[in-house]
Amino acid sequence: MRIESDLKLGFKDVLIRPKRSTLNSRSQVKLYRDFKFKHSGLSWSGIPIIAANMDTIGTFEMAKSLSSFKILTAIHKYYSIYDWENFIKKNSKKVLKYIMVSTGISNSSLKKIKQILSLSNKLLYICIDVANGYSERFVNFVSKVRNMFPNKIICAGNVVTGEMVEELIISGADLVKVGIGPGSVCTTRIKTGIGYPQLSAVIECSDAAHGLSGQIISDGGCTVSGDISKAFGGGADFVMLGGMLAGHKESECEIIKENGKKFILFYGMSSKLAMKRYIGDIYRYRTSEGKKVKIIFKGLVYNTIQDILGGLRSACTYVGACKIKELTKRTTFIRVLEQENRIFNN
Ligand code: 5GP
Repeated sequence: MRIESDLKLGFKDVLIRPKRSTLNSRSQVKLYRDFKFKHSGLSWSGIPIIAANMDTIGTFEMAKSLSSFKILTAIHKYYSIYDWENFIKKNSKKVLKYIMVSTGISNSSLKKIKQILSLSNKLLYICIDVANGYSERFVNFVSKVRNMFPNKIICAGNVVTGEMVEELIISGADLVKVGIGPGSVCTTRIKTGIGYPQLSAVIECSDAAHGLSGQIISDGGCTVSGDISKAFGGGADFVMLGGMLAGHKESECEIIKENGKKFILFYGMSSKLAMKRYIGDIYRYRTSEGKKVKIIFKGLVYNTIQDILGGLRSACTYVGACKIKELTKRTTFIRVLEQENRIFNN
């Protein structure tokens, strides 16, 4: 047994120090970023935010809305080939450019992803997603997918430490997804005791990735737009959101009416509910590592996105970053023991 005693930080442990700036207005801030990816050599430009590949977040409807902002959606893996065919038939490059196709690491997932990608060469991204990215089998799968699809942008995760980020990039990932346990409907830390505070994971993993010309996605743990600024400030190239985008019309799920109010269910992809829905039951040897919450229906995601982007632009002006890429360079975190004044948050 060993103890690492330097303190690891989450978003709640820091604030960003304001800096002198020559920016006069938030409208001067550019949130688009241009990327060129390591292995595929592909370029992509857009706002580096991604809707998570959860079945109430990474939906086709979400992709249609978010693509108009040039924001990515990682489409969940439960649509059928028929659903994909329909979607691709009806949507142009303008939408397909902002989509990631998610997959697990089974043989049947591999077969399915081949079928989906053969439907359109406008699909650029593959997101290979497992809860625990530390297995040899996962690393081998990433290499296999890289060999099969040399011209796609491959994202792989989740991990939280530099050495595993390096291994995945060397194995063919352009982008590594970082986060174990910070999610809004995740119970991994409670069930297993495993995890890593998200901001420190981002700082350490981005350093490792950038050293190899790779990139990272900070996945999970953002509760407000300030957390997204902190993730970018810490070195994240992309930020993935679940809970912050939950409860909207684009969730493609049933709206529950109770006492004149509207609600929507939101749940982890390893929750009992999700496992029952997609696998039929919970395997005897595993436990659920996600929870279910009922949240107020918030209408269209458009307004939430405007709010998030407004927050990000404002963060950039406070530190004098005229584009999102500069946020990291201009960020000095201060460790704090307080965040907002909660007097009116009953
Ligand atoms: P959020 O933005 O809601 O804080 O985090 C979203 C992320 O939580 C997802 O992208 C995914 O990585 C993670 N996640 C989703 N469902 C589950 C789950 O059931 N269990 C765990 N451990 N993580 C989950």
